[in-house]
Amino acid sequence: MKILVINAGSSSLKYQLIDMENEQLMAKGLCERIGIDGHLKHTPLVDGKPVFNEDVPMPTHSEAIAAVIDKLTSAEYGVVSSMKEIDAVGHRVVHGGEKFASSVLINDEVLAAIEECIPFAPLHNPANITGINACRAVMGDVPMVAVFDTAFHQTMPSKAYMYAIPFDYYKNDGIRRYGFHGTSHRYVSARCAELMGKPIEELKIISCHMGNGSSLAAVCKGKVLDTSMGFTPLVGLPMGTRCGDLDAGIIQFLMSKYGYSIDEMLNILNKKSGVLGVSGVSSDFRDLDAAAAEGNERAQLALDMFNYWVAKVAGSYAAAMNGVDAIIFTAGVGENGADTRAAICEYFGYLGVKLNAEANAKRGQDIMISTEDSPVKVFVIPTNEELVIARDTRDIVC
Ligand code: AMP
Repeated sequence: MKILVINAGSSSLKYQLIDMENEQLMAKGLCERIGIDGHLKHTPLVDGKPVFNEDVPMPTHSEAIAAVIDKLTSAEYGVVSSMKEIDAVGHRVVHGGEKFASSVLINDEVLAAIEECIPFAPLHNPANITGINACRAVMGDVPMVAVFDTAFHQTMPSKAYMYAIPFDYYKNDGIRRYGFHGTSHRYVSARCAELMGKPIEELKIISCHMGNGSSLAAVCKGKVLDTSMGFTPLVGLPMGTRCGDLDAGIIQFLMSKYGYSIDEMLNILNKKSGVLGVSGVSSDFRDLDAAAAEGNERAQLALDMFNYWVAKVAGSYAAAMNGVDAIIFTAGVGENGADTRAAICEYFGYLGVKLNAEANAKRGQDIMISTEDSPVKVFVIPTNEELVIARDTRDIVC
């Protein structure tokens, strides 16, 4: 069975074709500048076929999907002989609100429900819907499945997801913590249980997804107890460019002092804050590491704040779960930032965490980076959201 995984953004579309017989990646690619002009980078991963990396006109997502199918089936760049070999499509959808606690076969009713969640994710859900509609237009009645970033977090108890504001805002408007990166937290926590050789139902895990966007999740006996992103992905840890937790009074103060509109204010908090805002250097942790090594104090402060927040939130989750068996690092910084991991683990002395420096220096593999006798095990597990989407799609379609 071959499954096409689609992650559609407003002007971009990422894809992977996965052979589910062996879970091998057959091809991957990225359409960019959709609606502007259009560019496709297509990378076949079988038979030594060449990479296609050229401008292709893409006035809409439909032309983008058509270009993807054309390349996947072409003699020169293709990995399948015809579209009929693609058995199903799995779509990443950012927000499923309270409607979706798991992945689902897409039909008109499901599409309408995803549309109803647009107010919660006004930038992302419309792009995801456009991707689904484009696939339907180009691929006809191939079964399609939606996999939601929010779904894994739907197990949170109300004491964790409620905000302490008048209850009617929850009841009437759906204002609550939803959480994001659920597919990633789900993948790495399940993999962690596998690596530990224990059922996930017996484990208390803290999953640290640290990338350009970052969130932590407390996964208690297989269910999310709490997560650091909230109603939107803006809160929790300081991120690449997002501010993380912030006193709402600051918004009122800055808006009245500088006359910002709410859109300007949110643009500052989403795009100009986080480690970029604090350091004035970059949102990229590689640049921050380099600047800090050269003595840039604000770059060091940004890194210190990030590490402190990861440790602080993780500590609150250890308390909320009444213990922790394993801590996982994943995503760009979590998988590659050995110094960041080591600095965060310094805070976990009270848990008895002992880092294995040699293991922590390795890259690109599932690996335990704590010592064998560390009472709390620490892992680096490269995330694979596309594989989760493909597996869910297979399970639902078969
Ligand atoms: P993601 O959002 O998961 O793709 O992560 C992207 C982020 O990972 C980049 O912005 C970098 O900050 C970070 N990153 C990538 N490679 C490294 C590295 N070698 N060391 C530290 N951070 C890295």
